Amino acid sequence: MKVLVINCGSSSLKYQLIDSESEQVLAKGLCERIGIDGSLTYQKAGGEKEVSELAMPTHKEAIQFVIDALTNDKTGAVASLSEIDAVGHRIVHGGEKFASSAIVTDEMIKEVEECSSLAPLHNPANLIGIRACQELMPGVPMVGVFDTAFHQSMPPKAFMYGLPRRMYTDYGIRKYGFHGTSHSFVSKETAKFLGLDLENSKIVVAHLGNGASICAVKDGKSIDTSMGMTPLSGLVMGTRSGSIDPSILEFIAERENISLEQVLNILNKESGVYGLSDGLSSDFRDLGSAAEEGNKAAEEALDVFCYRVAKHIGKYITVMNGVDAIAFTAGIGENDKDTRKKIMEYFGYLGIEIDDEKNSIRGENVKISTDDSKVAVCVIPTNEELMICRETVALVK
Ligand code: ADP
Repeated sequence: MKVLVINCGSSSLKYQLIDSESEQVLAKGLCERIGIDGSLTYQKAGGEKEVSELAMPTHKEAIQFVIDALTNDKTGAVASLSEIDAVGHRIVHGGEKFASSAIVTDEMIKEVEECSSLAPLHNPANLIGIRACQELMPGVPMVGVFDTAFHQSMPPKAFMYGLPRRMYTDYGIRKYGFHGTSHSFVSKETAKFLGLDLENSKIVVAHLGNGASICAVKDGKSIDTSMGMTPLSGLVMGTRSGSIDPSILEFIAERENISLEQVLNILNKESGVYGLSDGLSSDFRDLGSAAEEGNKAAEEALDVFCYRVAKHIGKYITVMNGVDAIAFTAGIGENDKDTRKKIMEYFGYLGIEIDDEKNSIRGENVKISTDDSKVAVCVIPTNEELMICRETVALVK
């Protein structure tokens, strides 16, 4: 099957056309500045990247341009639209309604709409992408794959906050967790790579990108994760604060004489390693070189990040009563050997040692712990698009 994977944001849309048998990407790209002016990036496998400025007042035009590019006589990846067998859509929030991926139907769309209050910036954009595809590709089966679904296996003791129960029953306030598609993909790949029986394994996945979260995967299921009702909690991230004492919100609002919304903006966009480094950068490459040149704030930002990650990994080892493997993934997890090493230095007590040579390998699955380490530490590149493709095929078939 040829599956078009769509990740639709409010003004952008990323896409990949994947052959599900070979799992090869046939073409990929993105539309940006939808609703402003519009640009389309398109790249066929083995071909050059093409960028065209095209007017995209809505997502419908954007998807039409994607279809045009994919079916173009000269550079297209398919001869006609009829070769696209299914579309897989990334959806951010599935609330408690979706514990797995779902075929797109009118009923399903209604339920996703009902989850929109939990992700007001994301779900409506995801739905716009679904509706535009339905209009332009009538009859093509579509599947929604949720960032939250993998974490629906968490038990109440992990997902309940210590708040009055009615906050949960009336408003759905609880931990949902995110990056589920990545945590699910990486835990499966880790088990396969190490020859573990997934159904009988304890794996901690550290998805460390601009957004970052840790997941405890026991017997193939998420039993706890560091993000919460929203993606703001847990780890210190690129620009997000992660978990802080909730009383700080009122304190900042009073001191700076700003609204709660403005405080949240600080927590989301001006905090994390970016804020800690005094606005130097949210990019670990910049922070690493600044720290090397003696910038104390950058060094401290990296220390805070690694310490917080290590604490979460430690917590999850405790709740699983042990660990077989720790897997690093996403931008920082896959590329930053210094950060991996620094985090793993906290785990000497578990008999973990990092092999510096293996820790320098990039772009593939690799075990970076020494052979005599008691716990395997790996780098497993994530591939959310491939996971969405696999889920789509499983449901459509
Ligand atoms: P997201 O998908 O959450 O936006 P990514 O998973 O793409 O984020 O991660 C992006 C981050 O990865 C960058 O901000 C940067 O901090 C980090 N990163 C990417 N490449 C490298 C590298 N070579 N060395 C260190 N950090 C890197």
